[in-house]
Amino acid sequence: MRKPKVVILGAGYGGLMTATKLQKAVGVNEVEILLVNKNDYHYETTWLHEASAGTLHHDRVRYNISEVIDRNKVDFIQGTVSEINTKEKKVILEDGELEYDYLVVALGGESETFGIKGLKEHAFSIVNVDSARQIREHIEYQFATYKAEEEKKEERLTIVVGGAGFTGIEFLGELSNRVPELCREYDVDPNKVKMLCVEAAPTVLPGFDAELVKYAVAQLEKKGVTFMIGTAVKEGTPEGIIVAKGEDELEEIKAGTVVWAAGIRGNSVIEKSGFEAMRGRVKVQPDLRAPGYDDVFIIGDSALIINEEINRPYPPTAQIAMQQGETCAHNLAVLIRGKGEIQSFTPDIKGTVCSLGEDDAIGVAFGKKMVGGKASFMKKVIDNRSLYMIGGPTLVFKKGKFNFL
Ligand SMILES: Cc1cc2nc3c(=O)[nH]c(=O)nc-3n(C[C@H](O)[C@H](O)[C@H](O)COP(=O)(O)OP(=O)(O)OC[C@H]3O[C@@H](n4cnc5c(N)ncnc54)[C@H](O)[C@@H]3O)c2cc1C
Repeated sequence: MRKPKVVILGAGYGGLMTATKLQKAVGVNEVEILLVNKNDYHYETTWLHEASAGTLHHDRVRYNISEVIDRNKVDFIQGTVSEINTKEKKVILEDGELEYDYLVVALGGESETFGIKGLKEHAFSIVNVDSARQIREHIEYQFATYKAEEEKKEERLTIVVGGAGFTGIEFLGELSNRVPELCREYDVDPNKVKMLCVEAAPTVLPGFDAELVKYAVAQLEKKGVTFMIGTAVKEGTPEGIIVAKGEDELEEIKAGTVVWAAGIRGNSVIEKSGFEAMRGRVKVQPDLRAPGYDDVFIIGDSALIINEEINRPYPPTAQIAMQQGETCAHNLAVLIRGKGEIQSFTPDIKGTVCSLGEDDAIGVAFGKKMVGGKASFMKKVIDNRSLYMIGGPTLVFKKGKFNFL
C-alpha cells in the first residue's frame, strides 16, 4: 500500500516542531514526511533583533536543519515555495513541483507596511538572517562613512525605528547597548547619535502592563532612545521618513537608517494560493486545518486564531507556533493511522518577556510581573527552552544562552 505523504512547508518554529514531533509519533513504514525550507538552516526568529543590532553574530541564531531531524523518517528539500495548488494537491517551488496527501503550511510572516508609501523601498525590516545581517552592516557602514567623509552628514548617525511593539522595543534594547561600542569602534562622538522610536499608537508596547511599560521606557530613555508616541509615519524616503505633526502638518526626519518594526502579515504564498485570508493570515479551524480543506493545516504566523475572552486575534508568537506544531503533529498522526482523536488547539500562554538588551527585560511569567535581571534571566530560560523543545539538550549546549550574570 502506498504510504501517505506529508509535506511540511517552512522549518521555523511551527514547521520544525511539527516535523520533530511527527517523526517521534510515527513509524518509518507508516508515512513519507518531506520538509521544505528556503535555507538549509533554521533561524531563531525571536533572536533576530540581536543579530540586527550586532550584539549577537548571525551564526549564533541559526543551526542546520539536518541536526534536528531524523533522516530515516524525514526527507529535507531546500527550496522556495511559490504557490500551492490545492485542487491538484501540489506545491509549486521556484524550481519544481511536489505532491502531497497532507500539507502543513508553516511559512511564517512578512513585514506589513500598511500601504505606507516608500517604506518597502527605503526601510529595513527584521525578518530573517539576510535582513538582520544587512541592517547590522548598514549601520556599521553609516558610522564608518560618517567618520571618513569630509563634509559630515550627521543624519547618518540617526536610526529610526518605526513601531514600539515587541520587535521594535527589543531591537532598541540591543541597539542602545551596541551604540556605545560602535562609537568606540569608529571614533564617533556618542552625542551625535540619535535613536528615535516613532509609534502611531498612544502607548509603547500596547497590551503590556502599564507599570512594566513605564520601566521599559525609562530604561531605554536612559540609554539615549527618544520616543515619539502618537506619531504616525506617513512616508519612507531615501533620506528618512515623513511623519504627521498635528492635524495637517508633516515633518521630515532625516535618518541614515530606518527599521520598520510595526507590523506583521502572513506569508504572501497564502494569498497567492487562493486561501481566504486577513492580511495574509488564515482563520483556521480549531484543529488547525484551513476552512474547506481536509488536507491542509496552517500554523504559526500565517494562521489566525481568536482569543475568545477578548474577541481579538492572538498576536503571532513563537510560543503559539510551537504549540500549534505539537497539535498539528498529533492530528496528522491520527489522520495517517485512521485512529485516535483529533485535538482542538488552545494556546497555553505561559507568559511574555520583552528583552531590553542583554541584561535587562520586562515580563510576566506564570502570573508574576518582573523587571531587570530577573526578567532577563527568564528570557534566556525561554530562549533555551525553545531550543530544547526542538533539538533536546544537545542543541541547548550548542546554541543556548548561558550568560546569566
Ligand atoms: C525580532 C523578533 C522578536 C520576537 N520575539 C518573540 C518573543 O520573544 N516571543 C515570541 O513568542 N515570539 C516572538 N517573535 C515572534 C516569533 O518570532 C514568530 O511569531 C515566530 O517566528 C512564528 O513562527 P513560524 O513557524 O510561523 O515562522 P518562522 O519561525 O518565521 O519560520 C518560517 C520559516 O519558513 C521559511 N520560509 C518562508 N518563506 C518561505 C518560502 N516561500 N519557501 C520556503 N521557505 C520559506 C523561512 O525561511 C523560515 O525558516 C519575535 C519576532 C521577531 C521578528
